[in-house]
Amino acid sequence: MSILVVAETKGDALKKISKEMVSAARNIGKPVVALLFNGTDAQAKDLFSAGADTVVKSSVSYSSQGYAAVAAAVAVQKQAKVVLLPHSIQGKDFAGRLAVKLNATVVADVVGLKGSMDLIELRKPVYSGKAYATIRVKSPAVITVRPNSQEVVSYSGPETLETTDAAEGNVSARLADIDASGGSKVQLPDASIVVAGGRGLKGPENFPMLQELCDVLGAALGSSRAAVDAGWISHSTQVGQTGKTVAPNCYIACGISGAIQHLAGMGSSKYIVAINKDADAPIFKVATYGIVDDLFQVVPVLTSEFKKVLG
Ligand SMILES: Cc1cc2nc3c(=O)[nH]c(=O)nc-3n(C[C@H](O)[C@H](O)[C@H](O)COP(=O)(O)OP(=O)(O)OC[C@H]3O[C@@H](n4cnc5c(N)ncnc54)[C@H](O)[C@@H]3O)c2cc1C
Repeated sequence: MSILVVAETKGDALKKISKEMVSAARNIGKPVVALLFNGTDAQAKDLFSAGADTVVKSSVSYSSQGYAAVAAAVAVQKQAKVVLLPHSIQGKDFAGRLAVKLNATVVADVVGLKGSMDLIELRKPVYSGKAYATIRVKSPAVITVRPNSQEVVSYSGPETLETTDAAEGNVSARLADIDASGGSKVQLPDASIVVAGGRGLKGPENFPMLQELCDVLGAALGSSRAAVDAGWISHSTQVGQTGKTVAPNCYIACGISGAIQHLAGMGSSKYIVAINKDADAPIFKVATYGIVDDLFQVVPVLTSEFKKVLG
């Protein structure tokens, strides 16, 4: 028996959620097996250092059917009772297909995991983040885990590196091309810091001011729907019920009132900093720190002070 984690990479980097899942898996059961598609030895090393006992490499390239076929074959071979995937576009794309192959329950967008491999207790946001549900699931189970929701814990133990020649099978749809829109320099769902702007920014000409703060902090740029609907910034930056869901360590909301539909996309951030000139704005109800002031005064000061500290 084992617990299988399907890792995700971006270029040469292992996505942080991959390490988060490996560390979380150790609390549920052992051994922890990580499946790494087209990964490097350095990425495998990162998985070991976060808690993997075994890393299985596959050279199959991405398709929903292909990844599901390989992950199912590895799960069967390793007798995995639970499979963890990132709650990313890719993970969501093949989680259902994989669950069907393994005759497993699928639970999506989980932020908390405890219990054992036989009976896992999962916590996940429901009703657009207005409440959390606790779900107890018997194995086999396929679970997608929200990025930035788990701690990465350092681990050192025996390391077994394997390769699998499990085939992708018949693939009827394959990703042909990605037309990157530009967008934020740091990807929103993976960012550990997000700086987001709303209608309080007053116009598109003021978003570069937020981007400058993002650059200093290594943060991703986000926005409210009001800013997107006004045509000030691309929809790819929208956070909320009809945009992206993020759970960074720190979310800095600038000129955002904190409507429930916006909170649905960022309410599980660890620290929320709100900058708003209206002390009664609802965002302050969820904020860890609040600055009641004009963002056009505050943001440049933050940028220059962080520059001094961070270089
Ligand atoms: C079905 C549905 C889905 C939706 N999905 C989303 C979604 O995914 N994401 C989303 O964000 N919204 C969504 N909305 C819209 C949501 O209800 C709000 O209208 C929107 O979030 C408001 O954006 P805002 O906070 O930028 O604007 P406002 O509510 O207008 O707030 C602007 C804030 O800026 C402050 N401000 C103004 N000037 C300054 C200044 N100089 N300095 C500091 N503060 C200042 C004001 O005090 C105010 O609090 C959805 C709505 C519906 C009905």
